[in-house]
Amino acid sequence: MSFLPFGRRTFLGRLALGAAGIGVSAATRGAFAAPASGRPLGVALVGLGNYSTRQLAPALRLTKNCRLAGIVTGTPAKTVQWRAEYGLPEANCYDYESFDRIADNRDIDIVYVVTPNSLHREFVVRAARAGKHVICEKPMAVSVAECDEMIAACKSAGVRLSMGYRLHFDPSHLELGRVAREGDFGRLERIEGGFSFVVATKAWRQVRALAGGGPEMDIGVYVIQAACIAADCDPIAVTARNEPVTKPEIFDEVPETMSFTLEFPNGAVCKGRVSYNERANFLRAEGSAGWIKLEPAYSYTGLKVETSRGPFPFEPVPQQALQMDDFADCVRTGRPTRVPGEMGRRDNAILAAMHESARTGARVVL
Ligand code: NAD
Repeated sequence: MSFLPFGRRTFLGRLALGAAGIGVSAATRGAFAAPASGRPLGVALVGLGNYSTRQLAPALRLTKNCRLAGIVTGTPAKTVQWRAEYGLPEANCYDYESFDRIADNRDIDIVYVVTPNSLHREFVVRAARAGKHVICEKPMAVSVAECDEMIAACKSAGVRLSMGYRLHFDPSHLELGRVAREGDFGRLERIEGGFSFVVATKAWRQVRALAGGGPEMDIGVYVIQAACIAADCDPIAVTARNEPVTKPEIFDEVPETMSFTLEFPNGAVCKGRVSYNERANFLRAEGSAGWIKLEPAYSYTGLKVETSRGPFPFEPVPQQALQMDDFADCVRTGRPTRVPGEMGRRDNAILAAMHESARTGARVVL
């Protein structure tokens, strides 16, 4: 593995050190009011669907800098279940109406918004007004204007805002970024990415008012993110096309499949495709001196990296635990997060350009 800058063990050690905030200079501390140091920060999950239940809450059992301290749900039965499972006091359980009272709860430092996409804006803004730091799930919102409002609300409340971009804490994507920056294979100019799975019944992700679009909003974000990492810059132009619908009973409001091209200022081009009726999970990037491929590229675990010089093996990491621990450390120390709201806004701007291009057929300059 001659192209690795340091061994695998060291690499994972650095991840852990990063998550623990070691090495942060005293000068960077105190940019934001930090809660009482020492104790793990309290996280409240808003929206107790699949991702909260199966990924985030279990991950919060592994975190060191933060812990599950509260919940916000519209389903009273879930409050009973979650209190039993996680030993949460009644005072830390809210519904969507009582949520704003979280402002008075000193157990909760961070609100993590995990609702359907079109509700992110409302809960991020309400969390900021309650004086809580915020993590927002992807996509950040359903429009760039909403992202601006969310960023402004957090700024004016003096709270931190981060995206739930877990892959920035996975060694495979970190290695993709390093390869791109250091040019192991030359500039990665030919990029291809796909993320697709088959949807059998209509749910909120296929309702425009809740999802803001189709697979591009939900899983296209991952391909966009990985393409930006591989190109090592942000795209300057986008073209996109909605492919023919084969299941009109499900896809009467949002696209079923979208193909798109991202053009980057350094000459790199990404051909992407996302679908709710195909199967794909990869990112391949090629330069003049070789290639790197992640497949699967976007899963919670089991990511694999192949390169023209052989595989890049690494141990799986708990992506969500690293992501949340890192943000808690950012809150405590004032260090910037690597996945800020501005990055979520960038991706929403790319998604909006994809929508415009799919509608008009034009190449949209960002
Ligand atoms: P889900 O359908 O399993 O859960 C959504 C939750 O929101 C449910 O508990 C539901 O009761 C609640 N809800 C509140 N208001 C609602 C309304 N008006 N309509 C429907 N549901 C409503 O969805 P999920 O998979 O948990 O996704 C939630 C968010 O997390 C989405 O933004 C999604 O993009 C994101 N997500 C991120 C990842 C990741 O890897 N980062 C993975 C999955 C989901």
